[in-house]
Amino acid sequence: MQTVWTKDYNEYNLPKVKEDTKTPILIIGGGIAGLMCAYNLMREKKEFILVEGEKLARGVSAYTTAQVSVAHGKLYEEIKKKHSHRLALEYYESQLEGLSIIRNIIKSEKINCDYKEESTIIHADKDKNLLSIIKQYELLKNYENINLLKSNKKPMKYRLGIEFSNQFIFNPIKYMNGIIDLLIKNKEKIYENSRVIKIKKRENLYEVLINNDYYIYAEKIIMACQYPIKNPDNLYFTKIYKSKSYAVSFKSKLKLSANYVSLDAPYIYIRSYDKDTLIIGGYDHFTGVNTKNQNYYNQLTQKIFELDKNAIIGYKWFAEDCIPIDSMPYVGVYSRMNPNIILVTGFQKWGFTNSHIAAKNVINILNNVHHNDLYKTHRWALFRDLKSTIRMMNHSLNGLIFSKIFIKSDNIKKININSGKAMKYKNKNILVYRESKNKYIFLKNKCTHMGCSLIWNDIDKVWESKCHGSIFDKYGKVIYGPATKDLETLYI
Ligand SMILES: Cc1cc2nc3c(=O)[nH]c(=O)nc-3n(C[C@H](O)[C@H](O)[C@H](O)COP(=O)(O)OP(=O)(O)OC[C@H]3O[C@@H](n4cnc5c(N)ncnc54)[C@H](O)[C@@H]3O)c2cc1C
Repeated sequence: MQTVWTKDYNEYNLPKVKEDTKTPILIIGGGIAGLMCAYNLMREKKEFILVEGEKLARGVSAYTTAQVSVAHGKLYEEIKKKHSHRLALEYYESQLEGLSIIRNIIKSEKINCDYKEESTIIHADKDKNLLSIIKQYELLKNYENINLLKSNKKPMKYRLGIEFSNQFIFNPIKYMNGIIDLLIKNKEKIYENSRVIKIKKRENLYEVLINNDYYIYAEKIIMACQYPIKNPDNLYFTKIYKSKSYAVSFKSKLKLSANYVSLDAPYIYIRSYDKDTLIIGGYDHFTGVNTKNQNYYNQLTQKIFELDKNAIIGYKWFAEDCIPIDSMPYVGVYSRMNPNIILVTGFQKWGFTNSHIAAKNVINILNNVHHNDLYKTHRWALFRDLKSTIRMMNHSLNGLIFSKIFIKSDNIKKININSGKAMKYKNKNILVYRESKNKYIFLKNKCTHMGCSLIWNDIDKVWESKCHGSIFDKYGKVIYGPATKDLETLYI
């Protein structure tokens, strides 16, 4: 999937894990979260290994819109509602700190990443969301750099907004490349194409299976691979869901003086990329639902033409992020049974400030330093957002039971070329992708994460799980976890 960032990818060609080995600390995941943990460990002169299942800096962090901002939509209001006034302010302050950490790293390490200071404006037109703007303004108005405003001018007209000044945009790939260069220069042990398949606790060590080939024995694990891999013992699957969103780049003469985040559904955000290119994103929804009818790219394109009828559409892409139902990230010990695993997840589409705070907290946890445990993992989340909990349970029941019972038989010849379908065929519950007139790819309809059935998304040409949000390509290869293994190919 090409994006505006693809041209800046670096081929590091780092080795795969090729022997059994031991390490005091293993980082799983080479996205912004894993890389920042590695950077901090390097600065602390701690020994570690980082394993990345694919290539470094190619996960969600490479498909983002990269506004580095504390203007997190409605989040402050939500945290206040689900937790407390105090926690909403603490979250805000931690984001301010995240912003300043990342800014300092760019400056001190001289990373050339197209850094550009800009305000972010969250805005609304609908009455319900105007109220949300007012509530958030009331909550945050005593901090610096916050203004209430409205705009009657095209192209960004809105009834009410909050401007957060002194935010920035950057090129996330160039930033991550800068960090990777530093890690490589320091001869840190980093492996690509080394996917963690299984984690087993063995007395004081974790036995981590890589690519079904070799073991890494680790005293501590930093799990920075988005959705937790090891699942049952802290019920994360009842607390975090995956949400997909879409982005489109376009050439335009439009000049934006800020980044914008609309609170009105379908929750659209827009930023400039370079002097004649902009990026628009949005239409967030639970992964695995609305796969049939909604062509979100077309709807984003329509928005673009409303802004500039002469715009020229560029790249279109999707990605998904982890959303904690109680609106706070998870950074801390995995569970009572696994205190030596540190989980880093739940950035809810605001991963840049959050990953830097997370990496700082990870070091505090490793060093046993007292810190504000704002994102603690041992918190009661289940009923903080009953609607999302019920929805997640419903998706799981559907994926694990009902969609399997009610699956219908069909004729594979009815499937269009370059399309797919989950169906009963020769008495088997399978996934069929029709590659050409006479070529079909048959896969077992069982997500390798927890066995849920999958759904074909004909727009993105992928298989999606609505249980826990794994996404596989048309041949069954994992694109996004929590699944760690590809789908089983069947020969029928
Ligand atoms: C469309 C979209 C727009 C966004 N826009 C913004 C924005 O403007 N500003 C902002 O702050 N945030 C934004 N975000 C959120 C932000 O991009 C993410 O929160 C952040 O990139 C997540 O980083 P990560 O390191 O956790 O995940 P990733 O970048 O996905 O890294 C995780 C890595 O772990 C690897 N991995 C997974 N499983 C395994 C395994 N079993 N073994 C080994 N490796 C494994 C993956 O291959 C991947 O490389 C956006 C998100 C989306 C979806």
